Formats: sequence, C-alpha cells, structure tokens
Amino acid sequence: MTPLHLHAISRPLLFDGAMGTLLHERGLQPGECPELWCANRPDDVRAIHRLYKEAGADVLETNSFGANRYKLEHYGLADRLEELNRAATRLAREVAGDDCHVLGSIGPTGAFMEPYGDETEEAFFDTFTRQARALHEGGADAVIIETMTCIEECILAIRAARAATPMTVVASFTFDPQAGGGYASMMGVTPEHFARAALEAGAHVIASNCGLGPDHMLNVVTLLRGALPPDVPILAMPNAGMPVMRDGHTVFPETPAEMAAKIPSLLAAGARCVGGCCGTTPAHIAAFAKILKP
Ligand SMILES: [Zn+2]
Repeated sequence: MTPLHLHAISRPLLFDGAMGTLLHERGLQPGECPELWCANRPDDVRAIHRLYKEAGADVLETNSFGANRYKLEHYGLADRLEELNRAATRLAREVAGDDCHVLGSIGPTGAFMEPYGDETEEAFFDTFTRQARALHEGGADAVIIETMTCIEECILAIRAARAATPMTVVASFTFDPQAGGGYASMMGVTPEHFARAALEAGAHVIASNCGLGPDHMLNVVTLLRGALPPDVPILAMPNAGMPVMRDGHTVFPETPAEMAAKIPSLLAAGARCVGGCCGTTPAHIAAFAKILKP
C-alpha cells in the first residue's frame, strides 16, 4: 500500500490511538524504555498494532517515539538507535500487511539547543537523520514528527527526514490552552506560526497531537486551516479529553462514544485525517471507524 500519498486520498484516513497507554497495560514499568520492547517484547508490540488494525485504523504508528540518540542515551541504549527503529517499523509492517500504512514515529529529543541548552543544530539534525533513515529502511510509508513544542527542533527534524528519505513527512505540534485565550505550545509557538514554518521547511501534512481533547483540538484545527493553503492536509490526534485525577491516577475521561461524536466537527473544520493520542484505545478507534467508514 506504499507510499502514503496523503494529498491524494479520496476519503478521511483513520490513524491509530495511544501506544504508551497499552504498553503500560501490558506491564511497561515507569523508567523502562518503551522502544526496547520492539526488541525484547515484540509479540506485545505486534499485538497492540493488531488491536488497532482490527479496530479499523488505516495507519499504524511505530513504537519508536523516543528512539533518538538523547532518549536512548538515558537508558544506555544509544548504540541501538538503528536497530530499534528498524525493529519498530518491521513489527508494524508485519501487522499492516497490504491493508494499512505504516507511519514511523519521531518524538522530541528531550534536549535543548543553544541558546536554551548545550546541543547544536548539527547534533539534532544528525539524530533525526539517523532515525528517519532507519524507519525508512525498516519499511515505513511515511514519518510523523510529533508532540513537538520547539519550532527550531521541529524544522530540523522535517529537513532531516526530507533530505534523508523520500517519505511523506507529517509535522505535528502539541498546544496548550492559554490563560488569555488562544493556544500556544510549551515554548510559546502558536498554531499559525507552526503551520507556516513547518510547511516552509518541507512538511507535507500539518498535524496536532496530544495536549488537548477534541473540543480544544477543534479550535486548533480551525486555526491551522486558516493559516494553510486549502490543499495541505491536516491531521488531528486529540487526547481522550483533558486529564483529571481519579484515585491518585491521571485519567483521560472521554469515552469512545463521546469522542467519536466530535469527529464530524473536526472534519468539517478542515481535518482530513484523525486518530488519537493519550488515553485513546482500540475501542476509541473502533468508534471513530464507525463514523468514518459507516
Ligand atoms: Zn499524547
């Protein structure tokens, strides 16, 4: 089903839901490297992909979000960057078959560039290049640079993926509601600023994931749509609502039915593809599928 030409799709595509939530359900411990499960617990990673495929997802995201040099160094696994990204893609590819696309996940480094930190642009470009190349070698159809909050880091990742691979590049930012109204990332980037800068850097698809539930995400999609040419696809992957504390645990409260009821308004506001982030499960994706593919 390769390659993933999101420009040319004739109906909205359904992306999958959270990976971390399901890894924790299967025993991932706090402080454990989620991406190492691609090597040590491949059956569990495959099983999660299979749940999302059976729920109706058209696109499966790899378990490679934190498989960059900086996060892997933290676990003493930096020398396994290529191996883990290739393994992550291979596992998703095995489940996807010819029915689903595989989207390689690239998350933030967790480090800071000058002048906020010690890292250089060259070092960031290098780790994103290595990750994108390994995801492509493993068989990804496209790559998503997601949960980004720093525009400079996001731009470097887009440029690295475009230069190192022929893959479609999705750029996805995480926004928070602002006290005075409107939305901005943790680093103060607005949806409009992100959309224009990511497009100029070479992103094919502009997206927002995490941070917000579907109600706020609707407003962000409207802002992104207004800042972009009409032919640029937008992907929205909200959390299952805004987190609340229940019995000392963080819970994402929106049910599959509640979230699914808001999908039509996200599409009407200009999203061409939808999926889920934190707190979304195969049951949420199955409810979205009923709306998107009746
Ligand atoms: Zn999330």
